[in-house]
Amino acid sequence: MTLTEKWDYFKSQIEARETEFVQIHCPNPPKELFEVSPNGHIRVLTIERVGYYPKKYFTRNQKRASTAQVLEIQYAYNNPEELDQSRIYLYWRSDNSSSAVKLTEIGKYIQSHEEAIVKSTQLKEKVKKEEDLLANGHIRCCYCKRVTPETTAISANIIGRDRKQVYDTWKKRFVSKACVTQTLMKFCSNTCAANEQMSREG
Ligand SMILES: [Zn+2]
Repeated sequence: MTLTEKWDYFKSQIEARETEFVQIHCPNPPKELFEVSPNGHIRVLTIERVGYYPKKYFTRNQKRASTAQVLEIQYAYNNPEELDQSRIYLYWRSDNSSSAVKLTEIGKYIQSHEEAIVKSTQLKEKVKKEEDLLANGHIRCCYCKRVTPETTAISANIIGRDRKQVYDTWKKRFVSKACVTQTLMKFCSNTCAANEQMSREG
């Protein structure tokens, strides 16, 4: 075997080990994953492949591997690093984007279309119900976003910071100045009003 053939052999063996590891831990990857947005929209993520990432990186001279390069990859082959399940990724494509999800985090997604439809229907009903309530004497809490009867809602002046354009007569142009703002907001409770105020301080 030439040096280059040796190098390529060890490289293919290291890759085969990774591929086998992926197949053992993810023998039947789902074809699709589903995401349902809060307004009930279903996004389908089509799984295109499963892979191990990042791979251990090796280089060799294009024309002919050097002895040092062969020794390096041979050493890596003989002393394999422990493979890690959190480095198995499912690569997906959707309408207008593509990315990957870790096998260990696949539980964040819905794996059956029926389940996605059920969740979407529930969310759409919830949105519809909230819209009806908002049109009938209810408000949405500015902090926790819960819909709550106007009669029990709390109004509070929330003090914040902003910048405004002020005409500077000396410089003869508008300049940006820090200012304090007051916004009247509605909340479901005093706790939410206090939380909103706190989120603007510091
Ligand atoms: Zn609230």
